[in-house]
Amino acid sequence: SSAARRQRISILGSTGSIGTSTLDVLSRHPERFEVFALTAHSRVDELAAQCLTWRPRLAVMPTAELAQQLRERLRAAGLHTEVLEGPSALEHVASHPEVDSVMAAIVGAAGLRPCLAAARAGKRLLLANKEALVVGGALFMQAVQQGGATLLPIDSEHSAIFQCLPEERSAWARRIDHIVLTASGGPFRSRDPGTLADVTPAQACAHPNWTMGRKISVDSATMMNKALEVIEARWLFDLTPQQVRVVIHPQSIIHSMVVCRDRSVLAQLGTPDMRVPIAYGLSWPERIESGAQTLDFCSLSSLTFEPADATRFPGLHLSWQALAAAEGSTTVLNAANEVAVASFLAERLRFDQIHALNAETLACLSIDAGEVTSVDGLLALDERARAHAREIVGRWQGRVAV
Ligand code: NAD
Ligand code: MG
Repeated sequence: SSAARRQRISILGSTGSIGTSTLDVLSRHPERFEVFALTAHSRVDELAAQCLTWRPRLAVMPTAELAQQLRERLRAAGLHTEVLEGPSALEHVASHPEVDSVMAAIVGAAGLRPCLAAARAGKRLLLANKEALVVGGALFMQAVQQGGATLLPIDSEHSAIFQCLPEERSAWARRIDHIVLTASGGPFRSRDPGTLADVTPAQACAHPNWTMGRKISVDSATMMNKALEVIEARWLFDLTPQQVRVVIHPQSIIHSMVVCRDRSVLAQLGTPDMRVPIAYGLSWPERIESGAQTLDFCSLSSLTFEPADATRFPGLHLSWQALAAAEGSTTVLNAANEVAVASFLAERLRFDQIHALNAETLACLSIDAGEVTSVDGLLALDERARAHAREIVGRWQGRVAV
């Protein structure tokens, strides 16, 4: 019977931080899950090693050349995994009729089309790839609804909110007054913002509580991660921007909170370990062992809170600004930020210029109403915003060099 059949999963971005944590959780429950497809963007050896362990039906690499390299490694090992290539292959493994669940763990807007494919195919969609929702917005949520997909948040804050809400979605609006997303404040929480100009990529990527991919690590240091999460929460829980609030909580023990109509506050707590939200997404509405440590209340020194100060964290407030502006503004903000982070990591933009670039791109780019009515339109807007942001980076670099 289908109840006894193992859940078949495609993991998009299986070589990343979320991808490998997902495989770690799956390895604890071989009787419940099987891997249908694994995908990676660059690391052939790592994907080959994962294929040897998990023996998926399909694997995906972005180019013909990388796909061929993977094919040769798998053939040498006598494995029958079929290797596909390119962006359409990601959509194929996300929507394949034999797939039950899709872990969306690609970083950036590149994950939008495969997410939509999974949504339209009615999959159980485990969403780590917050940028896809920030770019897709209403169209993403429509695809989920029309496809009959089950959207399960993996971002720890959104999983926390989800865990504090009843299973019945139609009860959410009546129950919630507002939500409070917690933010660690990142590695520079207590630094004078005036001293951040010469922060290096290595410093920005050293997060106090979490080990993550480089893009989200930089986003955490600028608080753009929280900005993206505000927008993500607005869509996931169908809230007004004013219903999404943020508080600094440096210990990352409370992962977020729901403030109910009666002012009762529900919080979800735990050690900072992404395997908890991943396990919940995999097993919902049940719970399974995640591998995470038990929270030891007696060794917690304290839980503290601070306001998310607008001068210290200017990037955060771009979220509410973009949500209040023309539709498509969150797409522009995300595109600018992806260019900003890549430029910063390539040492072509200073740390403090990340916010400047995001704010300037958001302010300068005008959005055509026709661009936000289709996914193709949104992705064209995304491309236009990137080009604009890159041009600004070039201009600023010229200025720095003089
Ligand atoms: P990562 O950089 O460690 O991994 C990204 C994965 O996506 C890799 O497997 C990579 O090969 C693949 N990838 C990268 N660019 C791609 C492209 N253009 N096309 C196809 N595949 C591509 O990132 P991560 O930290 O695992 O984060 C993944 C997503 O999850 C991000 O959206 C991030 O914001 C979100 N997230 C991560 C964490 C965390 O703890 N790492 C927590 C919450 C949310
Ligand atoms: Mg998060």
